[in-house]
Amino acid sequence: MSSTASRSSDRARALERILALEDEQGYENNAVMGGIAAFLDSWGHSLQSSNSTDEERRLLAWLNQELGGYAALNPAQRRLMAHRVLRKLADDQPSSAEQQQSRRVAPQPAPAEQPPQRKATKSRPSATTLDSPATAVSGIGPKLADSLTRLDIHTVRDLLYHLPRRHDAYPHSVVRDALLGQKVTLSVSVGELRVNNTRQRIPIATTLLSDDTGSIRATWFGNRYIARQLEPGQLIRVSGEVSEYKGQVGLQSPAWEPLEQQPIHTGEFVPVYPLTEGLTAGKFRRIMHDMVQTWVVRVHDPLTEQERTDFGLMDLRTALQEAHFASSAEALAAARQRLCVDEFLALQVGLLERRRQRDQQPGRALFIDQARIECYVQNLPFVLTEAQNRAVEAILADMARPHPMRRMLQGDVGSGKTAVAVAAALAAVSAGTQVAIMAPTSILAEQHYATISALLDHDEVRIELLTGSLPETEKQRIRDLTASGQVDLLIGTHALIQESVSFADLGLAIVDEEHRFGVAQRARLMDAELQPHMLQMSATPIPRSLAMTVYGDVDVSVLDELPAGRKPVVTALRDSGARDGIYQFIRKEVECGHQVFVVCPLVEPDEDGSGVAATSEQQRLQRDIFPDLRVGLVHGRLNAADKEAVMASFAATEYDILVATTVIEVGIDIPNATVMLVENAERFGLAQLHQLRGRVGRGTATSYCILMSDDPSETSLRRLEAMVSSNDGFELAELDLELRGPGDFFGVRQSGLPALRVADLSDMRSLEIARQLAAQVYETDPGLRSEEHRLLRREVKRFWARAPKE
Ligand code: ADP
Ligand code: MG
Repeated sequence: MSSTASRSSDRARALERILALEDEQGYENNAVMGGIAAFLDSWGHSLQSSNSTDEERRLLAWLNQELGGYAALNPAQRRLMAHRVLRKLADDQPSSAEQQQSRRVAPQPAPAEQPPQRKATKSRPSATTLDSPATAVSGIGPKLADSLTRLDIHTVRDLLYHLPRRHDAYPHSVVRDALLGQKVTLSVSVGELRVNNTRQRIPIATTLLSDDTGSIRATWFGNRYIARQLEPGQLIRVSGEVSEYKGQVGLQSPAWEPLEQQPIHTGEFVPVYPLTEGLTAGKFRRIMHDMVQTWVVRVHDPLTEQERTDFGLMDLRTALQEAHFASSAEALAAARQRLCVDEFLALQVGLLERRRQRDQQPGRALFIDQARIECYVQNLPFVLTEAQNRAVEAILADMARPHPMRRMLQGDVGSGKTAVAVAAALAAVSAGTQVAIMAPTSILAEQHYATISALLDHDEVRIELLTGSLPETEKQRIRDLTASGQVDLLIGTHALIQESVSFADLGLAIVDEEHRFGVAQRARLMDAELQPHMLQMSATPIPRSLAMTVYGDVDVSVLDELPAGRKPVVTALRDSGARDGIYQFIRKEVECGHQVFVVCPLVEPDEDGSGVAATSEQQRLQRDIFPDLRVGLVHGRLNAADKEAVMASFAATEYDILVATTVIEVGIDIPNATVMLVENAERFGLAQLHQLRGRVGRGTATSYCILMSDDPSETSLRRLEAMVSSNDGFELAELDLELRGPGDFFGVRQSGLPALRVADLSDMRSLEIARQLAAQVYETDPGLRSEEHRLLRREVKRFWARAPKE
């Protein structure tokens, strides 16, 4: 089903063959040894340049560890090592050794044979529920339960919703049609079994598998049990890929099980679960199979039949069953959709509920002095864009209502959020209340202070700036003024304002670049009897579809129009070959009085030296390339004060070039910076690159962003090319969502919402169904009070219990 999956198992099969060959040659052939190293190497490379699963990476890490010192071992040690690896590879496939074991444990042992505590849980299933600890599931003991905890699986229900990472597809076929390179499932009878030991006693079992259309060879490496499990004439189902071994076409170590048994390890859709420590994939799959059969009947559908019919949704029990052990591609898709809709529904309903509660909360209706706002707008050195006008209007309308505003002002860097925020601030001050503006860092607070001071008349609005660098007495003076209502507008860092300031009468809090309202809500400024209005500013563009989900409980204003005359940042993709030319270009820009960012993915060089590190790059540039220029360095391992000091020096043009990591992503405005060189650009996400690029192009001169990348993978290349062709954050965000996997999306990860376990945010269809369903449910039964929605109410509660603590 997934190419990653097939590559992983292809590689495992190939390694089996190499090791079998090594065994035959007595572990003395240096060519084979070198082959192993090269093989692991190329596997590693293929992982870097393409998507790979954790499972595959873990397997490869294990192999590297085991086989890393291989060449240095003597033949006897190598033999042990090879056997260990072969066992692991055989184990990782659903092998018959596991079946042997599970067959052994399958019959319920007599109660007397069970240890006492196990007897207690297992002999009284009625006492257990879906919320019982995972150990209530047959086959899961304390040790396994412990490693499951690391996957955030605690209860039976968690396990039921622990869906396969993917399903491997082995379509049903017949021997005649099983051609080289195909993945197939065959129903066959077993022929005579021959077990040969290689010279070093690795068992290689071979047999012929036959159906009406012909026979095919099957070989199992390193599995000493196979001969005892398979009997000539037995009817089995095998799944595997037809490949070549020593010139013969056949199946290498295929998964198999007796034909009369329900397909677990074989069949058209074999579930693949993330590996659990100390347990092979096959064993875990067996446990999951039994678990689903036993427990799914305990599940009750929170959706009514009518709701399911209206939206064409599968019932929950079938969905859970099919999501694990699918009977067809269609059933699997329908099952996944149902589970995704459930999760999105819980999310949506919870957001609607939050919103409903907020709408009932009393807030202060501010009198909006339209004339004064009009005057402010007229006096701006520019004309507001349509988008800015719309945002101002929406904000003022919110603040006039007797309920607290929760509005998000979203706009790309440079879209002019500040001018909008100041209009809101001025309105609140005119209504006789105080305003707080909070920024994540001191520099940003200072920049806000400078810009805003210039926009407002100091005689009318008393503005103060509170940052950590002020002397304590000065801080105290500002706190006192604020507490006694002699400050109208207080600008400062989140930390300082929230920790230490009380307001006489806070009407509006403006939060810049913090994620959601979490931080501010926790703050003391919320102690007030009437909740202040809140405006949040974010420069992280989020696709519309997602904004609806992630910010379903807040109102959103989008500045989707850049002020006229803004020059887009000229973006180019280059490789190392262009380095000299780029440095000449940088030098020229510096000679014109401009400044340059060089962004690196790493702080320190990593072990294999494959990425550019900020520390060494700064030294190299300063020493070898630009000895006559001033090259600064800033990265995330510096403490906050040092970081800010460097940024402040750069802003004061004490450096020409600043080598940095992504710490410069947010905020800082250095209009003089015209070039950004991004090293190893392929290592950055699209949203991140766009944020970085926003650090240049803030002045009047044309700015440049140079993305440096040697041999990016195909997806990386799409990202980088998108950067070259588009300057539109929202457009890039849509593409980012498309290119990236579930849950990974930048703005969502930081949104403070519960993590999605099943649903994938790029699944627009399920999202839309859930949105409609939520609206329908909520319209007829706000608060989900009816008996009909009792189960749904519980699901919603359960989902939201997973939200990160604010
Ligand atoms: P951001 O949304 O990134 O916070 P700013 O508010 O800092 O953007 O605005 C970026 C620059 O654009 C500022 O120099 C500001 O004065 C200017 N600006 C804002 N709105 C307009 C407009 N409508 N027309 C022209 N320039 C504008
Ligand atoms: Mg800004």
